[in-house]
Amino acid sequence: MNNTDIQPDITEIKNSRIDQVDFSNLQFGKVNADHMMYCDYIDGEWQTPKIVPYGPMEIEPSAKVFHYGQAVFEGMKAFKDENDQVWLFRPEQNFERINKSSKRLAIPEFPEDYFFASLKKLLELDKDWVKKGEGNSLYIRPFVIATENGVSASESDRYRFMIITCPAQAYYNKPIKVIFAQEYSRAADGGVGYAKAAGNYGAQFYPTKLAKAKGLDQIIWTDASSHEYLEEAGTMNIFFRVGDKLLTAPTNDRILDGVTRKSIIQLAKDNDIEVVVEKVSVKEIVNAAKSGELKEIFGAGTAATVVRVEGFEYDDVYHDLPIVDEPYGTFFKKSLQDIQYNRVEDPHGWTV
Ligand code: PMP
Repeated sequence: MNNTDIQPDITEIKNSRIDQVDFSNLQFGKVNADHMMYCDYIDGEWQTPKIVPYGPMEIEPSAKVFHYGQAVFEGMKAFKDENDQVWLFRPEQNFERINKSSKRLAIPEFPEDYFFASLKKLLELDKDWVKKGEGNSLYIRPFVIATENGVSASESDRYRFMIITCPAQAYYNKPIKVIFAQEYSRAADGGVGYAKAAGNYGAQFYPTKLAKAKGLDQIIWTDASSHEYLEEAGTMNIFFRVGDKLLTAPTNDRILDGVTRKSIIQLAKDNDIEVVVEKVSVKEIVNAAKSGELKEIFGAGTAATVVRVEGFEYDDVYHDLPIVDEPYGTFFKKSLQDIQYNRVEDPHGWTV
Protein backbone atom coordinates (compact mmCIF):
# COMPACT_ATOMS: atom_id res chain seq x y z
CA MET A 1 0.00 0.00 0.00
CA ASN A 2 1.10 3.54 -0.63
CA ASN A 3 2.68 5.65 2.05
CA THR A 4 0.58 8.67 2.58
CA ASP A 5 0.34 11.84 4.60
CA ILE A 6 -3.40 11.80 4.84
CA GLN A 7 -4.60 10.30 8.09
CA PRO A 8 -8.25 9.66 8.85
CA ASP A 9 -9.81 11.17 11.99
CA ILE A 10 -10.56 8.27 14.28
CA THR A 11 -13.22 7.80 16.93
CA GLU A 12 -12.75 4.35 18.40
CA ILE A 13 -15.55 2.21 19.70
CA LYS A 14 -15.81 2.10 23.53
CA ASN A 15 -16.93 -1.51 23.84
CA SER A 16 -16.31 -3.94 21.03
CA ARG A 17 -19.28 -6.07 19.95
CA ILE A 18 -17.01 -8.93 18.93
CA ASP A 19 -17.80 -11.14 21.94
CA GLN A 20 -21.48 -11.22 20.98
CA VAL A 21 -20.74 -12.69 17.54
CA ASP A 22 -20.89 -16.42 16.76
CA PHE A 23 -18.17 -16.69 14.11
CA SER A 24 -19.04 -20.29 13.36
CA ASN A 25 -22.54 -19.40 12.30
CA LEU A 26 -22.40 -16.22 10.23
CA GLN A 27 -24.98 -15.25 7.67
CA PHE A 28 -23.14 -13.48 4.86
CA GLY A 29 -23.22 -9.70 5.20
CA LYS A 30 -25.41 -9.57 8.30
CA VAL A 31 -22.85 -8.68 10.95
CA ASN A 32 -20.60 -5.66 10.72
CA ALA A 33 -17.23 -5.17 12.37
CA ASP A 34 -16.84 -2.42 14.98
CA HIS A 35 -15.76 0.47 12.75
CA MET A 36 -16.66 2.09 9.45
CA MET A 37 -15.11 4.81 7.35
CA TYR A 38 -16.81 7.71 5.66
CA CYS A 39 -15.56 10.66 3.66
CA ASP A 40 -17.73 13.45 2.29
CA TYR A 41 -17.34 15.31 -0.98
CA ILE A 42 -18.33 18.93 -0.39
CA ASP A 43 -17.65 22.03 -2.49
CA GLY A 44 -15.70 20.08 -5.05
CA GLU A 45 -13.35 18.39 -2.57
CA TRP A 46 -13.05 15.17 -0.63
CA GLN A 47 -12.83 16.09 3.06
CA THR A 48 -10.73 14.29 5.68
CA PRO A 49 -11.84 10.64 5.96
CA LYS A 50 -13.38 9.67 9.30
CA ILE A 51 -13.37 6.31 11.04
CA VAL A 52 -16.18 5.92 13.55
CA PRO A 53 -18.08 3.12 15.30
CA TYR A 54 -20.34 1.26 12.84
CA GLY A 55 -23.91 2.45 13.16
CA PRO A 56 -26.82 4.37 11.65
CA MET A 57 -26.25 7.76 10.05
CA GLU A 58 -28.49 10.67 9.21
CA ILE A 59 -29.40 11.33 5.63
CA GLU A 60 -32.28 13.37 4.28
CA PRO A 61 -35.12 11.69 2.35
CA SER A 62 -34.48 14.01 -0.58
CA ALA A 63 -30.87 12.84 -0.96
CA LYS A 64 -30.36 12.04 -4.63
CA VAL A 65 -29.19 8.49 -4.10
CA PHE A 66 -32.74 7.52 -3.12
CA HIS A 67 -34.27 8.98 -6.27
CA TYR A 68 -31.78 8.50 -9.10
CA GLY A 69 -29.64 5.63 -7.95
CA GLN A 70 -26.32 7.40 -8.17
CA ALA A 71 -24.47 4.74 -6.21
CA VAL A 72 -21.55 2.41 -6.89
CA PHE A 73 -19.77 -0.17 -4.77
CA GLU A 74 -16.96 -2.69 -4.53
CA GLY A 75 -16.40 -6.05 -2.89
CA MET A 76 -13.05 -7.25 -1.63
CA LYS A 77 -11.71 -9.44 1.17
CA ALA A 78 -9.05 -9.49 3.87
CA PHE A 79 -7.56 -12.86 4.85
CA LYS A 80 -5.57 -13.85 7.93
CA ASP A 81 -2.62 -16.22 7.66
CA GLU A 82 -1.35 -18.67 10.29
CA ASN A 83 0.94 -15.98 11.72
CA ASP A 84 -1.95 -13.56 12.27
CA GLN A 85 -0.95 -11.31 9.42
CA VAL A 86 -3.79 -9.76 7.44
CA TRP A 87 -3.64 -9.79 3.62
CA LEU A 88 -5.59 -8.14 0.86
CA PHE A 89 -5.84 -9.65 -2.60
CA ARG A 90 -5.11 -7.27 -5.52
CA PRO A 91 -6.76 -4.30 -3.74
CA GLU A 92 -5.52 -1.82 -6.34
CA GLN A 93 -7.86 -3.55 -8.80
CA ASN A 94 -10.87 -2.76 -6.63
CA PHE A 95 -9.68 0.78 -6.11
CA GLU A 96 -9.31 1.33 -9.85
CA ARG A 97 -12.64 -0.29 -10.55
CA ILE A 98 -14.64 1.81 -8.09
CA ASN A 99 -13.33 4.93 -9.79
CA LYS A 100 -14.18 3.49 -13.20
CA SER A 101 -17.70 2.81 -11.92
CA SER A 102 -17.90 6.28 -10.36
CA LYS A 103 -16.87 7.95 -13.59
CA ARG A 104 -19.71 6.22 -15.47
CA LEU A 105 -22.21 7.44 -12.85
CA ALA A 106 -20.81 11.03 -12.89
CA ILE A 107 -19.46 10.59 -9.36
CA PRO A 108 -16.10 12.26 -8.62
CA GLU A 109 -13.19 9.84 -8.37
CA PHE A 110 -11.79 9.07 -4.91
CA PRO A 111 -8.09 9.73 -4.18
CA GLU A 112 -5.90 6.63 -3.96
CA ASP A 113 -4.04 7.74 -0.82
CA TYR A 114 -7.32 8.46 1.02
CA PHE A 115 -8.57 5.01 0.10
CA PHE A 116 -5.52 3.03 1.18
CA ALA A 117 -4.79 5.07 4.32
CA SER A 118 -8.38 4.60 5.50
CA LEU A 119 -8.53 0.92 4.62
CA LYS A 120 -5.25 0.24 6.41
CA LYS A 121 -6.44 2.00 9.59
CA LEU A 122 -9.79 0.28 9.48
CA LEU A 123 -8.14 -3.14 9.20
CA GLU A 124 -5.72 -2.32 12.01
CA LEU A 125 -8.60 -1.35 14.29
CA ASP A 126 -10.76 -4.35 13.35
CA LYS A 127 -8.05 -6.98 12.79
CA ASP A 128 -9.61 -9.30 15.40
CA TRP A 129 -12.67 -9.53 13.15
CA VAL A 130 -10.56 -11.24 10.48
CA LYS A 131 -10.57 -14.91 11.46
CA LYS A 132 -8.02 -17.50 10.46
CA GLY A 133 -9.00 -20.69 8.69
CA GLU A 134 -10.25 -21.94 5.34
CA GLY A 135 -13.05 -19.86 3.92
CA ASN A 136 -12.91 -17.21 6.66
CA SER A 137 -12.35 -13.61 5.72
CA LEU A 138 -13.42 -10.06 6.38
CA TYR A 139 -15.56 -8.92 3.47
CA ILE A 140 -14.91 -5.27 2.65
CA ARG A 141 -17.59 -3.15 1.06
CA PRO A 142 -16.48 0.27 -0.19
CA PHE A 143 -19.31 2.30 -1.74
CA VAL A 144 -20.26 5.82 -2.79
CA ILE A 145 -23.68 7.47 -2.61
CA ALA A 146 -25.03 10.81 -3.82
CA THR A 147 -25.96 12.86 -0.76
CA GLU A 148 -27.06 16.23 -2.12
CA ASN A 149 -30.58 17.08 -0.99
CA GLY A 150 -33.25 17.93 -3.54
CA VAL A 151 -35.20 15.82 -6.00
CA SER A 152 -34.22 17.58 -9.21
CA ALA A 153 -32.98 14.99 -11.70
CA SER A 154 -29.37 16.01 -12.09
CA GLU A 155 -26.03 14.80 -10.82
CA SER A 156 -25.39 15.41 -7.16
CA ASP A 157 -22.85 17.93 -5.93
CA ARG A 158 -22.30 16.04 -2.67
CA TYR A 159 -21.25 12.46 -2.14
CA ARG A 160 -20.29 10.14 0.69
CA PHE A 161 -17.60 7.48 0.19
CA MET A 162 -17.83 4.75 2.80
CA ILE A 163 -16.21 1.48 3.77
CA ILE A 164 -18.01 -1.05 5.93
CA THR A 165 -16.82 -4.59 6.65
CA CYS A 166 -18.42 -7.89 7.62
CA PRO A 167 -16.85 -11.12 8.83
CA ALA A 168 -17.58 -13.94 6.39
CA GLN A 169 -17.36 -17.70 6.15
CA ALA A 170 -17.32 -19.61 2.86
CA TYR A 171 -20.04 -17.95 0.77
CA TYR A 172 -21.66 -20.52 -1.50
CA ASN A 173 -20.48 -23.90 -0.42
CA LYS A 174 -23.12 -25.79 -2.39
CA PRO A 175 -23.02 -26.24 -6.16
CA ILE A 176 -25.66 -24.21 -7.96
CA LYS A 177 -28.22 -24.72 -10.69
CA VAL A 178 -28.48 -21.95 -13.26
CA ILE A 179 -30.66 -20.86 -16.15
CA PHE A 180 -29.40 -19.19 -19.33
CA ALA A 181 -31.31 -15.90 -19.78
CA GLN A 182 -33.69 -15.83 -22.74
CA GLU A 183 -36.08 -13.05 -21.77
CA TYR A 184 -34.59 -10.52 -19.35
CA SER A 185 -31.24 -8.76 -19.70
CA ARG A 186 -28.77 -7.44 -17.18
CA ALA A 187 -26.92 -4.88 -19.27
CA ALA A 188 -27.03 -3.22 -22.66
CA ASP A 189 -24.44 -1.90 -25.09
CA GLY A 190 -23.38 1.56 -24.05
CA GLY A 191 -24.92 1.02 -20.63
CA VAL A 192 -23.52 0.51 -17.15
CA GLY A 193 -22.97 -3.27 -17.08
CA TYR A 194 -19.20 -2.91 -16.67
CA ALA A 195 -19.68 -0.67 -13.62
CA LYS A 196 -20.57 -1.91 -10.16
CA ALA A 197 -23.57 0.38 -10.16
CA ALA A 198 -26.12 -0.40 -7.44
CA GLY A 199 -28.98 -0.42 -9.95
CA ASN A 200 -27.43 -3.31 -11.91
CA TYR A 201 -28.07 -5.51 -8.90
CA GLY A 202 -31.51 -4.20 -7.97
CA ALA A 203 -32.72 -4.93 -11.49
CA GLN A 204 -31.64 -8.58 -11.27
CA PHE A 205 -33.69 -9.47 -8.22
CA TYR A 206 -37.02 -9.90 -10.02
CA PRO A 207 -35.79 -12.21 -12.84
CA THR A 208 -33.74 -14.10 -10.23
CA LYS A 209 -36.86 -14.52 -8.10
CA LEU A 210 -38.63 -16.07 -11.10
CA ALA A 211 -35.68 -18.41 -11.64
CA LYS A 212 -35.74 -19.41 -7.97
CA ALA A 213 -39.43 -20.20 -8.21
CA LYS A 214 -38.45 -22.79 -10.86
CA GLY A 215 -35.89 -24.35 -8.51
CA LEU A 216 -32.82 -22.66 -10.00
CA ASP A 217 -30.34 -20.59 -8.04
CA GLN A 218 -28.97 -18.03 -10.45
CA ILE A 219 -29.19 -16.64 -13.97
CA ILE A 220 -26.38 -16.70 -16.49
CA TRP A 221 -26.93 -13.49 -18.38
CA THR A 222 -26.69 -13.48 -22.14
CA ASP A 223 -26.07 -10.51 -24.44
CA ALA A 224 -29.14 -8.27 -24.45
CA SER A 225 -29.59 -7.99 -28.21
CA SER A 226 -29.58 -11.65 -29.29
CA HIS A 227 -29.48 -13.77 -26.08
CA GLU A 228 -27.13 -16.01 -28.06
CA TYR A 229 -23.92 -15.44 -26.10
CA LEU A 230 -23.24 -16.27 -22.47
CA GLU A 231 -21.80 -13.37 -20.52
CA GLU A 232 -21.72 -13.58 -16.72
CA ALA A 233 -23.69 -14.46 -13.62
CA GLY A 234 -25.25 -11.89 -11.30
CA THR A 235 -22.20 -11.48 -9.09
CA MET A 236 -19.67 -13.72 -10.78
CA ASN A 237 -17.92 -14.15 -14.09
CA ILE A 238 -18.38 -17.52 -15.67
CA PHE A 239 -16.08 -20.21 -17.08
CA PHE A 240 -16.87 -23.27 -19.21
CA ARG A 241 -14.63 -26.28 -19.59
CA VAL A 242 -15.15 -28.01 -22.90
CA GLY A 243 -12.81 -30.97 -23.22
CA ASP A 244 -9.63 -29.61 -21.65
CA LYS A 245 -10.12 -26.04 -22.83
CA LEU A 246 -11.33 -23.28 -20.58
CA LEU A 247 -13.69 -20.77 -22.20
CA THR A 248 -14.80 -17.40 -20.90
CA ALA A 249 -16.31 -14.34 -22.54
CA PRO A 250 -14.10 -11.31 -23.15
CA THR A 251 -15.06 -8.32 -21.01
CA ASN A 252 -16.97 -5.57 -22.76
CA ASP A 253 -19.20 -2.69 -21.72
CA ARG A 254 -21.83 -5.12 -20.42
CA ILE A 255 -19.56 -7.35 -18.32
CA LEU A 256 -17.79 -6.62 -15.06
CA ASP A 257 -14.02 -7.00 -15.33
CA GLY A 258 -13.71 -9.39 -12.39
CA VAL A 259 -10.53 -9.68 -10.33
CA THR A 260 -11.12 -13.40 -9.76
CA ARG A 261 -11.69 -13.94 -13.50
CA LYS A 262 -8.45 -12.25 -14.50
CA SER A 263 -6.54 -14.12 -11.77
CA ILE A 264 -7.92 -17.47 -12.99
CA ILE A 265 -6.95 -16.66 -16.57
CA GLN A 266 -3.41 -15.97 -15.35
CA LEU A 267 -3.29 -19.15 -13.21
CA ALA A 268 -4.53 -21.19 -16.19
CA LYS A 269 -1.69 -19.81 -18.30
CA ASP A 270 0.81 -20.53 -15.51
CA ASN A 271 -0.40 -24.13 -15.43
CA ASP A 272 -0.56 -24.75 -19.19
CA ILE A 273 -4.32 -24.91 -19.29
CA GLU A 274 -5.57 -23.55 -22.60
CA VAL A 275 -7.85 -20.55 -22.07
CA VAL A 276 -10.00 -19.23 -24.87
CA VAL A 277 -11.24 -15.70 -24.20
CA GLU A 278 -13.85 -15.39 -26.91
CA LYS A 279 -17.60 -15.03 -27.17
CA VAL A 280 -19.19 -18.22 -25.84
CA SER A 281 -22.38 -19.14 -27.66
CA VAL A 282 -25.35 -20.80 -25.99
CA LYS A 283 -25.52 -23.18 -28.94
CA GLU A 284 -21.96 -24.40 -28.49
CA ILE A 285 -22.46 -25.02 -24.76
CA VAL A 286 -25.79 -26.80 -25.22
CA ASN A 287 -24.23 -28.98 -27.95
CA ALA A 288 -21.20 -29.70 -25.78
CA ALA A 289 -23.52 -30.69 -22.92
CA LYS A 290 -25.37 -33.07 -25.24
CA SER A 291 -22.19 -34.62 -26.62
CA GLY A 292 -20.62 -35.01 -23.19
CA GLU A 293 -17.75 -32.63 -24.01
CA LEU A 294 -18.92 -30.05 -21.48
CA LYS A 295 -17.05 -31.02 -18.34
CA GLU A 296 -17.56 -28.06 -16.02
CA ILE A 297 -19.16 -24.69 -15.59
CA PHE A 298 -18.06 -22.54 -12.68
CA GLY A 299 -18.60 -19.01 -11.46
CA ALA A 300 -15.72 -16.83 -10.24
CA GLY A 301 -16.01 -13.87 -7.92
CA THR A 302 -14.66 -12.41 -4.68
CA ALA A 303 -17.57 -13.50 -2.50
CA ALA A 304 -17.58 -17.16 -3.56
CA THR A 305 -14.06 -17.47 -5.07
CA VAL A 306 -15.19 -20.37 -7.30
CA VAL A 307 -18.59 -22.04 -7.30
CA ARG A 308 -19.46 -25.17 -9.24
CA VAL A 309 -22.51 -25.21 -11.48
CA GLU A 310 -24.19 -28.62 -11.31
CA GLY A 311 -26.55 -28.07 -14.20
CA PHE A 312 -28.28 -25.50 -16.37
CA GLU A 313 -31.68 -24.92 -17.88
CA TYR A 314 -32.15 -23.64 -21.41
CA ASP A 315 -35.28 -23.77 -23.59
CA ASP A 316 -37.11 -25.49 -20.71
CA VAL A 317 -34.63 -28.39 -20.77
CA TYR A 318 -32.40 -29.04 -17.78
CA HIS A 319 -28.89 -30.33 -18.50
CA ASP A 320 -26.99 -32.06 -15.71
CA LEU A 321 -23.24 -31.61 -15.67
CA PRO A 322 -20.96 -34.54 -14.95
CA ILE A 323 -18.80 -34.77 -11.85
CA VAL A 324 -15.26 -34.98 -13.20
CA ASP A 325 -12.02 -36.13 -11.61
CA GLU A 326 -9.69 -33.25 -10.75
CA PRO A 327 -12.05 -30.43 -11.68
CA TYR A 328 -10.47 -27.19 -12.86
CA GLY A 329 -12.82 -25.31 -10.55
CA THR A 330 -11.43 -27.01 -7.45
CA PHE A 331 -7.88 -26.48 -8.67
CA PHE A 332 -8.39 -22.74 -9.21
CA LYS A 333 -10.19 -22.29 -5.91
CA LYS A 334 -7.38 -23.97 -4.02
CA SER A 335 -4.67 -22.13 -5.97
CA LEU A 336 -6.32 -18.79 -5.28
CA GLN A 337 -6.93 -19.51 -1.61
CA ASP A 338 -3.36 -20.70 -1.12
CA ILE A 339 -2.20 -17.31 -2.38
CA GLN A 340 -4.85 -15.37 -0.47
CA TYR A 341 -4.01 -17.04 2.86
CA ASN A 342 -0.28 -16.67 2.21
CA ARG A 343 0.30 -20.43 2.20
CA VAL A 344 2.40 -20.45 -0.96
CA GLU A 345 4.71 -18.14 -2.81
CA ASP A 346 2.84 -15.37 -4.59
CA PRO A 347 4.60 -15.19 -7.97
CA HIS A 348 2.51 -12.30 -9.29
CA GLY A 349 2.71 -10.09 -6.19
CA TRP A 350 -1.07 -10.15 -5.77
CA THR A 351 -1.23 -10.06 -1.97
CA VAL A 352 -0.66 -6.89 0.01
N1 PMP B 1 -19.63 -9.92 -12.24
C1 PMP B 1 -20.42 -9.17 -11.46
C2 PMP B 1 -21.64 -8.58 -12.05
C3 PMP B 1 -20.08 -8.95 -10.10
O1 PMP B 1 -20.86 -8.21 -9.31
C4 PMP B 1 -18.89 -9.52 -9.59
C5 PMP B 1 -18.50 -9.30 -8.16
N2 PMP B 1 -17.70 -8.17 -7.99
C6 PMP B 1 -18.08 -10.27 -10.46
C7 PMP B 1 -18.49 -10.46 -11.78
C8 PMP B 1 -16.79 -10.87 -9.99
O2 PMP B 1 -15.83 -9.86 -9.80
P1 PMP B 1 -14.66 -10.02 -8.73
O3 PMP B 1 -13.94 -11.27 -9.09
O4 PMP B 1 -13.82 -8.81 -8.91
O5 PMP B 1 -15.30 -10.10 -7.40
